[in-house]
Amino acid sequence: MLVGTPRERCAMPSTFRNMARGCLIGTAVGDALGAPVEFLSLVQIRARFGPEGLRGLEPWDGHRAGAITDDTQMTLATAAGLADALAEGVDPESAVWARYLAWYQTQRDPAERRAPGRTCLDALAGRVPGSAEDPLNDSKGCGGVMRVAPVGIAFEPGWAFERGAALAALTHGHPSGYLAAGFLADVVSRVAHRRTALYRAIMEAREELLGWEYAEEVLDAVDEAVETAMTNLGEPLTVQHLGEGWVAEEALAIAIACALAHPEDWVDAVLEAVNHDGDSDSTGAITGALMGVVLGVEAVPYAWVQRVERSAEALQTADRLVALVLEDPEARWAEGHPAEEEQL
Ligand SMILES: [Mg+2]
Repeated sequence: MLVGTPRERCAMPSTFRNMARGCLIGTAVGDALGAPVEFLSLVQIRARFGPEGLRGLEPWDGHRAGAITDDTQMTLATAAGLADALAEGVDPESAVWARYLAWYQTQRDPAERRAPGRTCLDALAGRVPGSAEDPLNDSKGCGGVMRVAPVGIAFEPGWAFERGAALAALTHGHPSGYLAAGFLADVVSRVAHRRTALYRAIMEAREELLGWEYAEEVLDAVDEAVETAMTNLGEPLTVQHLGEGWVAEEALAIAIACALAHPEDWVDAVLEAVNHDGDSDSTGAITGALMGVVLGVEAVPYAWVQRVERSAEALQTADRLVALVLEDPEARWAEGHPAEEEQL
């Protein structure tokens, strides 16, 4: 039954399945929106696309409008690896690492190579996964946080933070690189599994973060993002002071600020997250994933879903992950889980 205006419908709670679909489709569309402006300043973006900046899917670097980058490729690899882990009963780090290695092999193909991050390529070339205890490097690039949103679909709160951090630490050894990832996974998990409102989910993830060593940098970035959003609710936002998003805590902060400032509008949040000086495809991908979970896949404009590359695969991967999560007795959380209610 459809009631209300389209915007009211978007603000209604979504189903667990549509949140998972929103997570992956939101990543792909956010990534594809940001890709054409990744290396442009805001001044250059406005010069090219007009005073409002970029407003839709545009071609980039010889690719058609809707082409995705490494952010979507690696997020799909994370989701597929998590599904493999549930299906085969193996640990998530090994299963996801195997998917990342398979992704690394595809990067020899010029058609598949979409400006991959150097840290990820070097880590995978070494063929030995890193961890927080045994870091591979001192990188806090956003390549960890940009790919872990599906961890919050696979794991309930209490597990998601640690798992998100561990999957980022496979390639990124600096605490801010993996703690920003743990934070994002935790927020997604609280929204998807508990139906916690976004602001409260962020506050609860913040509590979780306080229990980790070397958390100050991510904590400061999150607090500045929340402050920015709360003073600009529903208004055009400037995120320039949060940084450019090349490093993990800045990319997380930009996504949090844009999502919190536009909690009922996927388009406003994501366009805000790509129209800035910095790493627009990653900040678009993270914001798109987060808002896709908050509002469900139905909040992502259908014309963009149709045009974005790998959308069918994103939907299939989300559905496979959801089916396995619901099947797994270990993952069938407490009574009254919203995903269980949907199955009745
Ligand atoms: Mg990218």
